[in-house]
Amino acid sequence: MPVMKRGLFLFLSFILLTSQCFAYELVLPREKKSVVNSNYAFFVGKANNGEYILINNLRVYTASNGAFAHSVKLKEGENRVVVKSNYNTQIYKVYRTKPADKAEEKFCEMELRPVIVKNNNVPLRSTPVNSGVNRMSHLFKGTALLINGSKGDFYRVFLSKDDTAWIAKRDVEDVKTSKPAEFINMNGKRYKNAAVQMIAFDKNLPYTVEEREKEIVFKVYNPELSENSVYTLNIPKPKKYTYRVTLEDGLYTFKVSSLPEDIREYTVVIDAGHGGSEKGAVGCLGDEEKDINLKIALELEECLNANGIHTIMTRECDGNISLDERVNIAKDNNADMFISIHLNSIGDIPMNIYKHRGTSIYYFNPNSKELAKALEKNVSKTAGTRRDGVRTAGFYVLTPPEYTSVLVEAAYMTNPMDSVLYRSEDFASNVAKGITAGILEYLGE
Ligand SMILES: [Zn+2]
Repeated sequence: MPVMKRGLFLFLSFILLTSQCFAYELVLPREKKSVVNSNYAFFVGKANNGEYILINNLRVYTASNGAFAHSVKLKEGENRVVVKSNYNTQIYKVYRTKPADKAEEKFCEMELRPVIVKNNNVPLRSTPVNSGVNRMSHLFKGTALLINGSKGDFYRVFLSKDDTAWIAKRDVEDVKTSKPAEFINMNGKRYKNAAVQMIAFDKNLPYTVEEREKEIVFKVYNPELSENSVYTLNIPKPKKYTYRVTLEDGLYTFKVSSLPEDIREYTVVIDAGHGGSEKGAVGCLGDEEKDINLKIALELEECLNANGIHTIMTRECDGNISLDERVNIAKDNNADMFISIHLNSIGDIPMNIYKHRGTSIYYFNPNSKELAKALEKNVSKTAGTRRDGVRTAGFYVLTPPEYTSVLVEAAYMTNPMDSVLYRSEDFASNVAKGITAGILEYLGE
């Protein structure tokens, strides 16, 4: 190669190499070609200093640390997305599959048929939908039920002539014969910090629970009786409370407890979300949610201990731990409170990614609503995040009523503005301070 041409070649290679070094990096999508079945594809990543990003010719906002995020509306079939900057151009192909034609599930009446619940902790629902908020109770293994209808994956459960419910088909199995349960006895006890009601039958019957303004109403159903088939037990509701339901050989025990008045008698379980191979959400700059959750959890442990509150951690390092294990840690230690720590991601929320930012708090049981409100107010204040609201959701760790529980979504991993916050050095300790202030406010300290 002549010297001139070699020089030009080297020069061009240098330009190409350096421009790619300075070019943006995408966290999402992970591959150049992807297949999705949603209406939107997310383009999340990091731009370098002085680099501007155009996605399908639209200029994308970049935060001060280079983080950017953008959603592209997809048409059915192949979508070509051009991600361009002043240093690099890359073409992504996203194939959107045709949404499966879901046949409208029809309701079918059935002859009354006895079945038995196969597993523990099976939701009895008010509608035939898998949702967090339609649960009427969690049934025990061996509960005898009558079913009289079917819709999709659910059976309709006959509770009494006025009450029906729904249960997933996979959670029950047929039994050959069945007869009405025999009532044995019923009694109640009052303790200083708890009230207990017990009712016994000669077999395991279904129950529901309803939280009213001043009382908690437990109902046990004996559906094979034609008359007086519902037994109602009312327990007064303390201001701050938890409750526990147990069933053993036909004997139900419903216990409503007041939370301790002295914070030094409290046990708070701190749950750093995800861990190990479960990374959780991934941020614009490649940060993993599990690591930030753990940092916040460790700071929170310190903060609560400094205030005289006893804590138990579900994990103290990076490792896998199942949802059941997390819940059992709380139950086995008679925890009063359970704080699960997470950061949010856009998930299925389409449209404007920039709208979804800040701190949101989730709860499931009504006994945790006030705690959720106190945390939402305080965490945003100390962490400098936007207030994103208090919501209900049926996350598994939030469902047991034996403890008050909330799930903190401290910020959005996928929001570029939030990424500046959660990558700052004092974010974890600021979130921990806010959670602590919220807990103390809730306890009236
Ligand atoms: Zn999470």
